[in-house]
Amino acid sequence: MSPTTPFNSFVRDVPDFPKEGILFRDITPLLANAEAVEAMAQPVLALQPTHVLGLESRGFIFGSALAQKLGVGFVPARKPGKLPMATFNESYGLEYGSDALEIHTDAFKAGDRVLIVDDVMATGGTAAAAQRLVQRTGAQPLALTVFIELTSLPGREKVEGLPVFSVLRY
Ligand code: 5GP
Repeated sequence: MSPTTPFNSFVRDVPDFPKEGILFRDITPLLANAEAVEAMAQPVLALQPTHVLGLESRGFIFGSALAQKLGVGFVPARKPGKLPMATFNESYGLEYGSDALEIHTDAFKAGDRVLIVDDVMATGGTAAAAQRLVQRTGAQPLALTVFIELTSLPGREKVEGLPVFSVLRY
């Protein structure tokens, strides 16, 4: 599918955000583009996931829309301390310090096929943590889909064995 207007004109480069030296790709205008979710869905329609796992927080927006389009349920991977029941926790390194994601221990069961969704893959640390979370439940991480992949970083190596789909690559 070719977008009416190229998708890269809906991504804004913001230098020094959230800290100096980082070039942040702002995808807010993409959320207002009615064609964006369709473009993300096309390559993963045939995968037949049973669930979408959306990563806090922009992965919730793309992920819930994709889940609806694929006709499957949505599960949120949340920042620590937000989920009320027993959780699995996986931490990942950031440039300074670390962060973590959590899912409920009963979010998936063996045999579930989980499509992991986020807006951007940079170093791949966030996606790799999500991949480990799915594995801990006994379910199968099927693929990762993001709108933007930063190919100058070794994200694909971090999520070894997990197919990665992206609409835009920088
Ligand atoms: P990673 O763990 O792959 O280094 O970073 C990916 C996570 O950080 C994603 O959850 C994504 O939302 C956020 N992120 C990192 N860099 C960017 C960026 O340039 N733009 C946006 N929108 N998110 C980013």
